[in-house]
Amino acid sequence: MSNIIGNHVAGSRLSQTGGTLQDVFNPSTGDVSGQIRLSSAAELDDVVKVASEAALGWGATPPMKRAQVMFRFKRLLEENADKIASTISSEHGKTHQDALGEVSRGLEAVEFSCGIPHLLKGSFSEQAAASIDVYSIPQALGVVAGITPFNFPAMVPLWMIPNALACGNSFILKPSERDPSVTLILADLLNEAGLPDGVFNVVQGDKVVVDAILDNPDIMAVSFVGSTPVAEYIYTRGAANGKRVQALGGAKNHMIIMPDADMGQVVDALMGAGYGSAGERCMAVSVPVPVGEKVADDLMDRMIPLVENLPVGPPTDTNAAMGPVITRQSLDRITSLLQSGIDQGAKLLVDGRGIKVPGHENGFFIGASLFDHVTPKMDIYKEEIFGPVLSTVRVTDYEAAIKLVHGNPYANGVAIFTRDGDAARDFVNRIEVGMVGVNVPIPVPVGYHSFGGWKKSIFGSHHIYGPDTIHFYTRLKAVTSRWPTGIKAGAEYNFPMMS
Ligand code: NAD
Repeated sequence: MSNIIGNHVAGSRLSQTGGTLQDVFNPSTGDVSGQIRLSSAAELDDVVKVASEAALGWGATPPMKRAQVMFRFKRLLEENADKIASTISSEHGKTHQDALGEVSRGLEAVEFSCGIPHLLKGSFSEQAAASIDVYSIPQALGVVAGITPFNFPAMVPLWMIPNALACGNSFILKPSERDPSVTLILADLLNEAGLPDGVFNVVQGDKVVVDAILDNPDIMAVSFVGSTPVAEYIYTRGAANGKRVQALGGAKNHMIIMPDADMGQVVDALMGAGYGSAGERCMAVSVPVPVGEKVADDLMDRMIPLVENLPVGPPTDTNAAMGPVITRQSLDRITSLLQSGIDQGAKLLVDGRGIKVPGHENGFFIGASLFDHVTPKMDIYKEEIFGPVLSTVRVTDYEAAIKLVHGNPYANGVAIFTRDGDAARDFVNRIEVGMVGVNVPIPVPVGYHSFGGWKKSIFGSHHIYGPDTIHFYTRLKAVTSRWPTGIKAGAEYNFPMMS
């Protein structure tokens, strides 16, 4: 196997020997496309030394000069979007168009980072007391790390990298071991954009590297995006070691369909948000919640033929609405969850199991599935399936819909479809979920707002990208200064008062 996917450290690809190799698959064919070399804890510690050294010069670089690197990075990402999307699709399986969409949403965070100097100005109070000025300055933390999931192998790293770098930190990324190659393209483009060596590094690996990141005392902050159990673990261990941690977890996103909703719009929204990217999105809608039996019956009647005929295929098939899921294990897990739904009494209206994609018989494909009459006690409701499955829960009224959402431990995204402004406004105000859509099924905020769920969908107090990023990736220093120095007020033994 010649395609060994290794580390990028100090501006170059390391050619390491030894260590454990792990297969990386092309999910469309089921073939092994490369092997990732899993790094050791000692290797991670060596990279931290490189990044610490680099952070000194980079942190002292004027913010505008750092931003200029991000401007060039943005242009390079745009020029290379096609290549990046193809690499994403080859290891993730999502359609080319979907991968291009991922790149463009990642670009938003890069664009935001280009303006970060404006947000690093701090604040200044002249004459806070006689001859005393007070100012606050946000300063870089030093070395920060990111640990990312498989489902957005470019976008999620881009939520972190440009913002952390523009704030003056050096960055160590541990990408998902399932689709790691695209991060090496990002590293090359950052090099080309003029980022000094050692400021951005990629360390491939698994839990061993993650634990080394969490335990290394010179890593000041950790951004994590992935499943809830791992997010909780990262937060707990990182925080216990004194680090700043933001850990975004999994989701179970509901879409409330009110009786007055535009059903044509609802159906389009559900198809895209439920089955796009084979349901492997943390903001995918997984639970349609029609309010009232009439709405539910109408919705199911409209959905069934569309779900049955949803085209599935490899990224090279331009007609495909969705590709395969990420691994055979994931396929098996989704298949067995579908069976559990049937066994526990849900009605499987469309069964996506066992589909064959001609010429790709060994790919990890599963068709779209649609359940009706799901209840909150069933595993298909409680578990994040992370596959192309919609689990419809019928409710009698609006209040029951709110109660359902509030009873779920996840709170990443939610949507309401209605033409009633009162209902929508009440929903936005009361619903305990981090990101809310009103007639918008996937309410991922634009790059100049911040992204984050509530409850078990996040651990730590900072959301990711956008304005929250400044608070996460810098620490505030408050300075109180007196000029001129010639003032002689005498020793003051009481606590200093400003008036
Ligand atoms: P995952 O939690 O399995 O893996 C995420 C990262 O953690 C990977 O880099 C992996 O190597 C590492 N990891 C896995 N197990 C670990 C362990 N036991 N100890 C330490 N590190 C470990 O997640 P995934 O399957 O790659 O991604 C899908 C999940 O991510 C879904 O739950 C999805 O909802 C979630 N996600 C959330 C968001 C969000 O913004 N909230 C965005 C994207 C994905």
